Amino acid sequence: MFVKSLTLTNYRNYERQKINFSEGLNVFWGDNAQGKTNIVEAIYCASLGHSHRTRQDTELIKWEKEAGRIALDYARSGVAGKVELTFAQNKRRQISLNSHPISLKDLIGNLNTVLFSPEDLFLIKGAPGERRRFLDREISQASPVYYHELIKYNRLIKERNALLKGIRERNTRPQMLDVWDPQVASSAAAIVQKRQATITQLNRLAAKIGKIISGDMENLRLEYEITGLSEKMTLEPEKWYNEKLAQGRETDIIRATTGIGPHRDDLIIKVNEVNLKTYGSQGQQRTGALALKLAELEFLHEATGEYPILLLDDVMSELDRDRRRELMSFIEKENIQTMITATDAAYFPEGLKARFFKVKQGAVEEKPAE
Ligand code: ATP
Ligand code: MG
Repeated sequence: MFVKSLTLTNYRNYERQKINFSEGLNVFWGDNAQGKTNIVEAIYCASLGHSHRTRQDTELIKWEKEAGRIALDYARSGVAGKVELTFAQNKRRQISLNSHPISLKDLIGNLNTVLFSPEDLFLIKGAPGERRRFLDREISQASPVYYHELIKYNRLIKERNALLKGIRERNTRPQMLDVWDPQVASSAAAIVQKRQATITQLNRLAAKIGKIISGDMENLRLEYEITGLSEKMTLEPEKWYNEKLAQGRETDIIRATTGIGPHRDDLIIKVNEVNLKTYGSQGQQRTGALALKLAELEFLHEATGEYPILLLDDVMSELDRDRRRELMSFIEKENIQTMITATDAAYFPEGLKARFFKVKQGAVEEKPAE
């Protein structure tokens, strides 16, 4: 899978820019605030339908313009595809695939990407929601069935919570929950089983990429934490959820929220059996986040048979020289199309096979490293 070209029109600080990519490594370098991350962000948008930096479409439109547009040409298993996204003030965004309008759920899974950016430190340091989103995004890119299940589950929880509120306010009969709970339990079990299977696979892959990240990270291990589970699950997951939902009903009604389920679970990341969130150094947390992303890359490779596009924003400045070299040779060896940004071209080893693009004030120009 690779991106052939990207055309930006009134997107962020670009008025009109076309970029033709190499199928291998593409380096975008230049000073701060010139538009490097904007390029990576646009490719991410074409893959998942939204930016990694904002949920406000209007922020993506060039200031004082009415509408902005991303058009991206790609090839997958030798078949060409074109994704277009149009953002307009006060209007819903429009997405099209090969010139046919499509919905967001039909966009996901066409062009797969894995992004690593400085904000990913929150994957380790942040709240459980960050880690759930990481897992969900990754599984969804490989499995539309999972993505649909997730939408269904979230809807069920929203409806159940509304029901709980109705019961608390004595407008609704508590028996209504008997209709909802088995559906919630069945969907919860499906999601949790898929997440657990993915984590088993990620643990295997994390060992494979250990070398790139070197030393410390070799013992990276992920564990799935189910809320409300103190020991091993002895029942079949669906039965367990049915029981737990019944047990928690009274508290759930008082709080008008559902206390257990995959929407409350967490992913625990350990190095040498110690929780990275609580005890990891800043550097360990950074490399931990990168290791997770590379495991995600391998996961999508296994699941789809093709490497996704790797988007690395500002990663070079965070790695020491040996790790930079290991990372570059991994990308070269596996032939992964990569877009990488850096403030300085000197971060890249000499003789590296790559296309260099200089980014300056919303303009991109192919130019060898200085
Ligand atoms: P750094 O090295 O600091 O990360 P960068 O090259 O990655 O910098 P970007 O985040 O890609 O920088 O681009 C930032 C520039 O884009 C800033 O100058 C910002 O003011 C401008 N910008 C952001 N949104 C818009 C917009 N909607 N319209 C016009 N310009 C914008
Ligand atoms: Mg940037």
